[in-house]
Amino acid sequence: MIVLKFGGTSVGDAEAIARTGRIVSSRADKGAIVVVSALAGVTNALIGLAEQAAKGHLIGAIRAVEGLRERHMKQTEALLGTGEASADTCAEVSAMIDELAHLAEALATLGDLTPRSLDAISSFGEKMSSLICVAAFVHQGLPAVHVDACDVMITDATFSQAEPQADEIALACRALVLPLVRDGKIPVLGGFIGSAKGTHITTTLGRGGSDYSASLYGAAVNADAIEIWTDVDGMLTADPRVVPNARLIEQIAFDEASELASFGAKVLHPNTIAPAVRLGIPVYVLNSRRPEGTGTKITFEAPKRAVSAIAGKNNVTMIKIGSPRMLLTEGFLRALFEIFERHRTSVDVVATSEVSVSLTVDDAARLEAIVGDLRALGDVAVERNRGIVAVVGGAIADGGEAMARALGALGDVRVHMLSLSATGINLTMVVDDEQVKPAMQRLHAAFFGNGAVS
Ligand code: ASP
Ligand code: MG
Repeated sequence: MIVLKFGGTSVGDAEAIARTGRIVSSRADKGAIVVVSALAGVTNALIGLAEQAAKGHLIGAIRAVEGLRERHMKQTEALLGTGEASADTCAEVSAMIDELAHLAEALATLGDLTPRSLDAISSFGEKMSSLICVAAFVHQGLPAVHVDACDVMITDATFSQAEPQADEIALACRALVLPLVRDGKIPVLGGFIGSAKGTHITTTLGRGGSDYSASLYGAAVNADAIEIWTDVDGMLTADPRVVPNARLIEQIAFDEASELASFGAKVLHPNTIAPAVRLGIPVYVLNSRRPEGTGTKITFEAPKRAVSAIAGKNNVTMIKIGSPRMLLTEGFLRALFEIFERHRTSVDVVATSEVSVSLTVDDAARLEAIVGDLRALGDVAVERNRGIVAVVGGAIADGGEAMARALGALGDVRVHMLSLSATGINLTMVVDDEQVKPAMQRLHAAFFGNGAVS
């Protein structure tokens, strides 16, 4: 049995949904559970209209609601034609849109957007997309059946960032999902949404939560695999906008994928697939526009290669604190990091010597206040216009060769700071901002070659 998750672009319009149906069909004999996102852009639109309504701009909010009605109707008709099934689905979608309009009116009256009412509204994307997908799959001849995610994805009541309750979800899957699969049916659920335990009030798992849904359902039914269908071929050895000949990574370890995510590899956030990976369920990232591709397989254990990918990040600020007082004293680092905590700024890369600390932050919004406080500890220097390049790989530190090659490849690129992660899978270097791109290109060439992909 496998769980197939389709992101917003894979269900963005009638053509994409039809393609998705063909992918589901090709997997049907394995026993499939399907999880879908909202149509691309719909969750953003819903959140936008909720904010508008709460500010009292009801006309604008209703206009957005009607835009959503038109888009969903149009795609439904394009998929199903004008017969009875189409009319039924359109009527259901239309009833949902009416409910959405009422919610917007209520919000405009209340003038206050709570996380709970935001969830009530932002859940509509998946509620509608899952209905439309079921109808489309049935129209394509698949034995698809809609399952209300609010009956299965049981969570706590932390609205907008709800915590899934694994035991309850497993029970609900056993009662409502698995019997369908056993009967040869294909259950289809909306991702991202659930309901608070014992209340049936709608919750959501946070933005991008559909991957998390798929992973939780996969874990609950102990699936053989989870397939995350998106609009890229998988994870690549570098950002292709920086390194045009970046290659597909066929298999990657979960912790390496996590390191890459912290550099903004937006394919998927590994935390969201942790529940499945922990159980040893492989997760594949696949391209619904090119379903014949192999994609990237993310597993707990992957073949140990020295280097899996090169990552980079711009607009980093580096801060250096030097203090002779640090020598042979305790508590200096605690005092230093407390300042960052107090100003709610997360520290990224750190290197220390006996009398100095260098570190980087992504978010420099509170820099002035931070530097003011740091001055009490020692001399402070701020260097803006820095960037980070990182070499990520399970065996980067296992011998001298990979490390030497990385440093050698950088040539005359000036390195301001260098850090090897405790797990030994990430060699991070702080360089001048404008050197991030050439440094990534050189590192990529050193580890993956420049020639044709073999
Ligand atoms: N539709 C939701 C969002 O855009 C969930 C998802 O797509 O994963 O955040
Ligand atoms: Mg999405």
